[in-house]
Amino acid sequence: MNVLKIGGFEILPGEQRKINLPVAKLYTDANVSLPIHIIRAKKPGPTIFVSAAVHGDELNGIEIIRRLIHENKFKIIKGTVIAVPMVNVYGVVNQSRYMPDRRDLNRCFPGSAKGSLAGRVAHIFLSEIVKHCDYGIDLHTGAIHRSNLPQIRADMSDLDTKELAEVFGVPVVLNSNLVDGSLREAAVKNETKILLYEAGEALRFDEFSIRAGMKGILNVLQYLGMTRKTPVSRKKKIAPFIANGSQWVRANASGIVHNIVNLGDQITKGQILAEIGSPYGEVIDAVKATRSGILIGKQNIPLVQEGEAMFHVAYFSEDDEEIAERIETVQEQLLPESDNV
Ligand SMILES: [Zn+2]
Repeated sequence: MNVLKIGGFEILPGEQRKINLPVAKLYTDANVSLPIHIIRAKKPGPTIFVSAAVHGDELNGIEIIRRLIHENKFKIIKGTVIAVPMVNVYGVVNQSRYMPDRRDLNRCFPGSAKGSLAGRVAHIFLSEIVKHCDYGIDLHTGAIHRSNLPQIRADMSDLDTKELAEVFGVPVVLNSNLVDGSLREAAVKNETKILLYEAGEALRFDEFSIRAGMKGILNVLQYLGMTRKTPVSRKKKIAPFIANGSQWVRANASGIVHNIVNLGDQITKGQILAEIGSPYGEVIDAVKATRSGILIGKQNIPLVQEGEAMFHVAYFSEDDEEIAERIETVQEQLLPESDNV
């Protein structure tokens, strides 16, 4: 019998379980644990983890996992799904990106059992969850007061990972190198194929990002044969646009921001993206695009200081107009008119 062991728990094929995996207590003597859903089909198949809130203030993924678990469509016919809605559970409690020791958990992998608090959580997550997994999807959002257009970041030089990134089905994919100490790097060392989904803003639920993330995860599960194929999913997949690179456009003046562009917009070199005004109301500077591309990230506070990153623009070999149209189509499909108010 193929028993899956996580912490002290044993989960059999055909079982669906919720478990709490203990991590370090708070100094108030309160226990802290990682909430984990495990869904196992009777039939053997791939094991995949879906994780959220590795950065504790990135909440969209928590909602993505909640909806998936409670959705009728989410019937696993083969293999195992391990969903971890809050990896940096301390950060979630504090509504903070970081661990209480001020470390970024996503720079502390692989960690160790005797290391820092962040290192211990990284070690537990890696040795109890990632170790079992052939695949992983790690859900993120932009930083606080920054929004990202739904996008996949993955190592596109690995052909299996590239295939998964394409199957996920968001229009924009960024080929991104592995960062030292990241969950992605540790997963790759474990030979787990991993995608990072970036969408929306920290401390907010964003409906488009949630729906695009859910759909992407379901697409991957279907592709891996873990859920039944629907008639729609049998249609030929539409290849995403893979960015050649991206760059942040920074403010050259300090002041009050009037945004002119939105996420997903086509940007042409020299175009005014925002105006910066003084407290007296006059325009003191215009923020201009340095290259043509698609707007994939932006800061949301309408106040800016010189040098601050304001707009994240991705560059492509394909026609930007076509990409912007695709993004709009996906948005319309996921957010029906009545919801889009
Ligand atoms: Zn993040």
